[in-house]
Amino acid sequence: MADATSSSTGARPGYFGEFGGRFVAETLVPALSELEQAYQDIVLGAEFQAEWRGLLEHYVGRPTPLTLAERLARSLDPDGKMIRNLWLKREDLCHTGAHKINNALGQVLLAKKLGKSRIIAETGAGQHGVATATACAMLGLPCEVYMGAVDVERQAPNVARMHMLGAKVIAVESGSRTLKDAMNEALRDWVTNVRTTHYCVGSAAGPHPYPLLVAELQRVIGDEARTQVLERAGRLPDAVVACVGGGSNAIGTFRGFQQDQEVALYGVEASGEGIPSGKHAATLTAGRVGVLHGSRTKVLSDDDGQILEAHSISAGLDYPGVGPEHAALQATGRAHYLAASDEEALAAAAELALSEGLIIALETAHAFARLGDIARIEFEHRKRPVDLLVTLSGRGDKDLATYTAHGLGQRPAGGGAA
Ligand SMILES: *Cc1c(COP(=O)(O)O)cnc(C)c1O
Repeated sequence: MADATSSSTGARPGYFGEFGGRFVAETLVPALSELEQAYQDIVLGAEFQAEWRGLLEHYVGRPTPLTLAERLARSLDPDGKMIRNLWLKREDLCHTGAHKINNALGQVLLAKKLGKSRIIAETGAGQHGVATATACAMLGLPCEVYMGAVDVERQAPNVARMHMLGAKVIAVESGSRTLKDAMNEALRDWVTNVRTTHYCVGSAAGPHPYPLLVAELQRVIGDEARTQVLERAGRLPDAVVACVGGGSNAIGTFRGFQQDQEVALYGVEASGEGIPSGKHAATLTAGRVGVLHGSRTKVLSDDDGQILEAHSISAGLDYPGVGPEHAALQATGRAHYLAASDEEALAAAAELALSEGLIIALETAHAFARLGDIARIEFEHRKRPVDLLVTLSGRGDKDLATYTAHGLGQRPAGGGAA
């Protein structure tokens, strides 16, 4: 185990308080050091920023809109006492349908500049795999995606998309044959091929410098939202809200507002079938401190420290770890973390479709499921109607089969026109 890190965050380099670090095989340390140097010298540099922002504008479709959700606000708060403005940051309108493309394009562009000839990635639901395959096709690099064999079967449309985009999908047969096993296999590949290969990590997790790199590539969400809301409302929101899987759309949103101490930050993770059932992915709410995928963070583990299976109806939140910066933001109290169940997420998705005409991703629906509670907490604290901003991380086309299996989309909801 090596744990030699250096960066400019926090007292200990590479750490967020007691979380983060670089718990990896010795053979990966030079590659992580190279990546850390590249983060400082290239990613934060003017030339890379100009090129990457050009791709975001002309290929991804940024800036994404900020939508005022008046009907949803009234549905959550019929008297208009608690919520004044409810803003949605529309990452569902990015090319490929979610925020993941921001990070994938940035990392593949960086890999090209580092002279890497091959990209590998891990994927659970296939969303990060599709984003990485897209970026690789666009920038002309070969791509191999590790995916648990169970997920290959349940996420057939995304496997077909990756194939069509020219990526090779490697079905992982070890362990539970899901996301954490795919991450282990990708790390194993990287150890062997580290000189030629860049490992494109899909969330703000993993060993230093990935949590910092991914947060930097996703901060475009929060930076844009801050500018847009100031322009539209003339004031900052009282609270910003995002769902948390590994934590990349949430940390990207938070980055825009972290320095504004008066803005409350909320993350919502998945409590699956309920925390007492043990079938959940609420790492921050119910996990313990441990090491997973090269990083010290909150994890789901048993009394012997073995990592447990996570469960969530949304594949993108179904991960037994979380980015280390979220563990630190929870520990210092700067951000608050709540959880929403499978059932609550389904109800929130149904509500968004009816009140705003938006079919949202199941991951995203978790953030909306706690919105009424967050409005109440902030209203009681500030004793006036509040402005809320929610990151709508992705669109729900990919979840249509799940929605249908749970009775949504079978007949006109709410008995037709109201
Ligand atoms: C992957 C995914 C997430 C969860 O990932 P984070 O890194 O926590 O953002 C959330 N929403 C959507 C739409 C996703 O595809």
